[in-house]
Amino acid sequence: MMKVPKNICAACGTVLDGASQVDGKQAPAMGDLSICVYCGNLSIFQADMSLRDPTVAEFELLRQDERVLEILRLRYKHFGDDGGKKQ
Ligand SMILES: [Zn+2]
Repeated sequence: MMKVPKNICAACGTVLDGASQVDGKQAPAMGDLSICVYCGNLSIFQADMSLRDPTVAEFELLRQDERVLEILRLRYKHFGDDGGKKQ
């Protein structure tokens, strides 16, 4: 886990200040996907490490990843939606 600037999850409101790469140990970079560890909401890291909602086009691309689909399935099962609003 590495420290990142504080962000508020757009879906559950949790303060997020750390990040772990799913399959490595690199720090997040602009454009990387962030998955809220508390609720599974999907966000995108910006250059300053703040988070924004994925665009509709990005969301469609993300949905092609089987791991992301599983997160979305779990999120839907527990919360009844797919997370934060799409821009
Ligand atoms: Zn969340």
